[in-house]
Amino acid sequence: MLNVIIFGAPGSGKGTQSAKIAEKYGLMHLSTGDILRNEIKSETELGRLADSYMSNGHLVPDKLVIDILDRLVGNNRDAKGFIYDGFPRTLAQGEALDKMLEKHGERVNAVISLEVEEEELIERLLERGRISGRKDDNRETIESRLKVYQNQTVPLKEFYRNQGKLIEIEGVGSIELIFSSIENEIDRL
Ligand code: AMP
Repeated sequence: MLNVIIFGAPGSGKGTQSAKIAEKYGLMHLSTGDILRNEIKSETELGRLADSYMSNGHLVPDKLVIDILDRLVGNNRDAKGFIYDGFPRTLAQGEALDKMLEKHGERVNAVISLEVEEEELIERLLERGRISGRKDDNRETIESRLKVYQNQTVPLKEFYRNQGKLIEIEGVGSIELIFSSIENEIDRL
């Protein structure tokens, strides 16, 4: 089983590249952001709770997302593998994922980090907000999400670097060019 994490700031292209990776390698795409947005759309209890954090650009509590992931991984034991998109986002989530996979005799194989300058991220997110109408893609929330990324998510890079799993890829250029750098790395695993 292949377990690949796609890592990067909001707007770094994780969703776009994950969809392509999932298709090419037959992996199940697990996007915690998409899962939570679906819960909001379905007006579930979980969705209402998640929305109160997401609309301010804050992270949803660890326990909530860890439980969602644990259930999904546990229920899809026959999958060829997973691409984790937007998870883990804190050290606690990274540690929980290791434990979760260990339970099933699996491990994280690689962490692909898409590197994009902050100015470019802001431009991309504002543009996405104009096109998709995603309500957390507004200037104020973007600022908060980028701060949260720096403070809570970036420490995970060290965590995975220490495990020898971090692969940094230039996340600027055409979608195809970035994907071919990712393919090179995954093919080596
Ligand atoms: P994304 O679509 O990955 O940009 O996520 C959108 C929002 O969902 C984030 O700003 C968080 O509020 C929430 N979210 C998504 N994934 C996580 C996670 N792993 N931990 C906590 N909050 C998350």
